[in-house]
Amino acid sequence: MYNLTPSDLEIQARARSFVDELIPYEEEAEANRGNLPDEVVARFQQRALELGLHATNMPKELGGGGCSMLQQVLVQEQGGRATNALGWVLGTPPSWFPPVATPEQIDKYVVPGIRAEKEECYAITEEGAGSDVDAIVATACRDGDEYVLEGVKWHVTSYNHAQYAFFQAKLTDGDHAGDHAMFIVDLPSDGVRVVRTPEYTHTISHHHPIVAFESVRVPVTQMVGREGDGMGFAYEWFRYERIMVASRCLGGAERLIDDTTEFAKGRIVNGKPISGFGAVQIMLADSMTELFAARALVYETARNIDAAADLKVQHTQCSMAKLYASEMANRVADRCVQIFGGRGYMRENVAERFFRELRVERIWEGTSEVQRSIIADQMVKRGPHVFV
Ligand SMILES: Cc1cc2nc3c(=O)[nH]c(=O)nc-3n(C[C@H](O)[C@H](O)[C@H](O)COP(=O)(O)OP(=O)(O)OC[C@H]3O[C@@H](n4cnc5c(N)ncnc54)[C@H](O)[C@@H]3O)c2cc1C
Repeated sequence: MYNLTPSDLEIQARARSFVDELIPYEEEAEANRGNLPDEVVARFQQRALELGLHATNMPKELGGGGCSMLQQVLVQEQGGRATNALGWVLGTPPSWFPPVATPEQIDKYVVPGIRAEKEECYAITEEGAGSDVDAIVATACRDGDEYVLEGVKWHVTSYNHAQYAFFQAKLTDGDHAGDHAMFIVDLPSDGVRVVRTPEYTHTISHHHPIVAFESVRVPVTQMVGREGDGMGFAYEWFRYERIMVASRCLGGAERLIDDTTEFAKGRIVNGKPISGFGAVQIMLADSMTELFAARALVYETARNIDAAADLKVQHTQCSMAKLYASEMANRVADRCVQIFGGRGYMRENVAERFFRELRVERIWEGTSEVQRSIIADQMVKRGPHVFV
């Protein structure tokens, strides 16, 4: 199926059997605010490294997997089969970073990231700037050999696990005044503090605090690329994360469909398995059909990236993949809760957890509305035939 090569199938199977080891820990994580004992987390991290499933997206010469985009998709798809973000142990460090990192940044951040010794977080969104990244009011002011950073960032995912943050700000002075720049801030650093850590819908060990950066001084060597480059990095990160979100949504939908079909076969109502009722059959059949369509779309998008398609085509197809796969997975989760009946509303049930967890896939890395706006703009600019 899907014309996967033997090596594609091999890495897919490797990731699948690893994620099968994670799945039995979901309920414990759910009951413990997403946390598992440290030794369990360390063991899974070590296994992911040994199996070559961490940093599949990073260059081989730096110790990463150097996998094709399709293979990265296949691995993340399997990661998506586990709830409570347990699959995040299949880490994807920032693959946009090595080509623009200085030798010092490669040693200090990129290589430790590939070895799972350091984790990053992204501080871009602000109270008044989410979909419209250009509305950020965070600032970076050059002062001799340093920049002084100011800003309050929202939803900083994984801040509680991270050793450094990518901080995006607008430059206050110089030739690039008003343009964006990206900085690396070591954590902890003087002037960086958590304002508060809100509760979110899902139950995962990664927090999303609001973080204040108050007169944070970083050497000029902590800038990524050059002044004015910041937005370009954010777009590259979005493009990559969108296809990864889409991949994990495929995995979530597959797990839901597998577990729900099994349940529907065994659940007897009025003397018959519910899988024989037309209304339930419609929900199962629609879910399977939509998963097939989404998977074909996501794999084809990955293949186009591997074939170095035009960047705008890649960007638009990643938006289509994220839009369709995330909305598909949400529809599937809703139907599966319904098929499980009362059980589907219990936190110990896989459909209940996915129903909550998949909701954010339609919001982060650009909302569904933003994806539609990107797709429609490109259709008008370049003609629809370019993208399909
Ligand atoms: C759990 C979680 C984790 C996150 N992690 C991070 C992180 O690690 N780092 C980070 O920087 N950010 C992070 N984010 C932020 C996330 O990327 C933003 O929430 C998202 O981009 C939407 O921005 P917003 O919340 O400000 O919504 P808004 O931009 O205020 O949008 C509100 C509504 O308006 C709609 N809308 C906006 N623009 C348009 C348009 N052009 N056309 C039609 N409708 C539109 C939106 O679709 C939405 O329905 C995270 C968010 C969440 C929920």
